Amino acid sequence: MAKKQFKAESKRLLEMMINSIYTQKEIFLRELISNASDAVDKIYYKALTDDQLVFNKEDYYIKVTADKAARTLTITDTGIGMTKEDLENNLGIIAKSGSLAFKKENEAQDGHNIIGQFGVGFYSAFMVADDITVISKALGSDEAYKWESTGADGYTIEPCEKDTVGTEITLKIKESNEEEQYEEFLEQYRLKAIIKKYSDFIRYPIKMDITGKRPVEGSEEEFEDYSDEQTVNSMVPIWRKNKNELTDADYENFYTEKRYGFDKPLKHIHISVDGAVRYQAILYIPENTPFDFYTKEYEKGLELYSNGVLIMDKCSDLLPDYFGFVKGMVDSEDLSLNISRELLQHDRQLKLIAKNIQSKIKGQLQGLLKDEREKYESFYKAFGRQLKFGVYNDYGMNKDVLQDLLMFYSSKEKKVVTLDEYIARMPEDQKYIYYASGESIERIEKLPQTEMVSDKGYEILYFTDDIDEFAIKSIMSYKEKEFKSVSSGDLGIEPDAKDEQTEAEENESKDLFAAMSEFLSGKVKSVRASKRLKSHPVCLSTEGEVTIEMEKILKAMPNGQDIKADKVLEINVNHAVFQSLKDAHEKDKEKLNLYTSLLYNQALLIEGLPVGDPVEFTNDICKVMV
Ligand code: ADP
Ligand code: MG
Repeated sequence: MAKKQFKAESKRLLEMMINSIYTQKEIFLRELISNASDAVDKIYYKALTDDQLVFNKEDYYIKVTADKAARTLTITDTGIGMTKEDLENNLGIIAKSGSLAFKKENEAQDGHNIIGQFGVGFYSAFMVADDITVISKALGSDEAYKWESTGADGYTIEPCEKDTVGTEITLKIKESNEEEQYEEFLEQYRLKAIIKKYSDFIRYPIKMDITGKRPVEGSEEEFEDYSDEQTVNSMVPIWRKNKNELTDADYENFYTEKRYGFDKPLKHIHISVDGAVRYQAILYIPENTPFDFYTKEYEKGLELYSNGVLIMDKCSDLLPDYFGFVKGMVDSEDLSLNISRELLQHDRQLKLIAKNIQSKIKGQLQGLLKDEREKYESFYKAFGRQLKFGVYNDYGMNKDVLQDLLMFYSSKEKKVVTLDEYIARMPEDQKYIYYASGESIERIEKLPQTEMVSDKGYEILYFTDDIDEFAIKSIMSYKEKEFKSVSSGDLGIEPDAKDEQTEAEENESKDLFAAMSEFLSGKVKSVRASKRLKSHPVCLSTEGEVTIEMEKILKAMPNGQDIKADKVLEINVNHAVFQSLKDAHEKDKEKLNLYTSLLYNQALLIEGLPVGDPVEFTNDICKVMV
């Protein structure tokens, strides 16, 4: 029999294809199953308009059979089949898609479940097979034909026998060599896994004869081989189902089945959009932080399906970094895929979907915050840090999306509160949103700097996370209220009678403060009478943008810079210690230096900063004792 030649360019294309389009060999099965599903779909669509044709769903299926001894893998379908001409056109001409043509002819019927479009998927089978036989009988035809090819050198077509309408594709699986193993494509567990991964939501049953051993009935020692025809795929994608048909348990099962996480999801979002861009999605907010979440190894992303067929495991473009904790999947029929169906070209639709998803997630979180406070707080515990990073990153570009999702511990409420809640409670005369930074809530509670602001009756937000202050600097203000550290030079609190007294005291003791400043020059910018201290003798405050907490964090960063805060040593002039300072200033210069040094080091310790010379510091204390 004369061999027909592939056209010259087809030959090259085929070689290119087989070797370079697909990154994973296993997708050949996805392609052949997709074709089989398309073939069944075509009968289904035909039946919609053809009264002669009855479509009984039970009669339509796809079957995958492996024969290890013969090294063959067969994919059978009960679809529309191919005539001699179809075989010639669709399998003989590369990049010709009969399915795309069908879709176009039947556009009026909403035939968008058809998967094929590029006319290349079939040839991916040559990645794993060196001989492919296609036996097919077309709907409405009495003849069957056999198409056979060993790859680039062409194909043959001859008449053959086949009883039923449909197609049977047999792959002769390649022999393994040193570099490549092909046996896996004959193993039932592996085939099952590939089908589950890519083709779980094909709408027709994909059957396999599952074999195994089981105990012989009535005997405890004897085992027998059995073979059982099973449907491997779940068929109906949960995301295509109606929301009110589904229970929380259904969503939880899907989460577990898909291995999105080992925890139970905190919340699911089921989206079905039928607008400018059509897509369905099931998204989850996990309950726990994945162990690698705050590391470089963590990969964000959603599963991406096109018409129920998995295209991408982790499509990262669908999620902004700050919502990187979200798990789940998106299915859209409107994506423009490239021919390998593995990658997307810069897709406008994908961008639209991503934007849409982002606002849905935001909406869901806001809803949670409003209606299910406890759940939100538990979410925030797990992922709040990521939101704060989101505020800080990209020069605060996303602050509008994220700022009302933030929470901080409140001095008044003794629990986390939102910025909105803080603002709502602010007394009229309060100008700023006050915050205090420190290692822990307990430590901040004891900071002398908080005294004055608290006494005024103002609420203070406690920043215990190293990202907090940086995030807030990116926001700058919330609802026109600026943020202010309780340690900053100017607290923006109206002066009262007591402040005047302090100022008078400062003027009177000008020389004393000058002497102390001089002694501490290089360490602090100045020494001043404090307006914020009530009971504590001393504290540090800062002038300018950099606070002491920021100085600590910047220093702790790998190759972090040694940026220093401009510090001011504040003395409580109403504290007994001030009298001692005055006395020393008059009588004993050396004693004044000793006291100054002690007070400065104490202020450092309160801030959680190391004292310059601990030995000198202890010696100094002893000097006071003897
Ligand atoms: P695509 O699916 O993108 O169209 P393929 O290379 O996978 O490209 O398939 C080429 C064409 O061959 C299909 O469009 C279809 O017309 C035909 N075809 C392939 N497999 C089958 C099948 N099992 N039954 C009927 N027709 C098929
Ligand atoms: Mg195809």
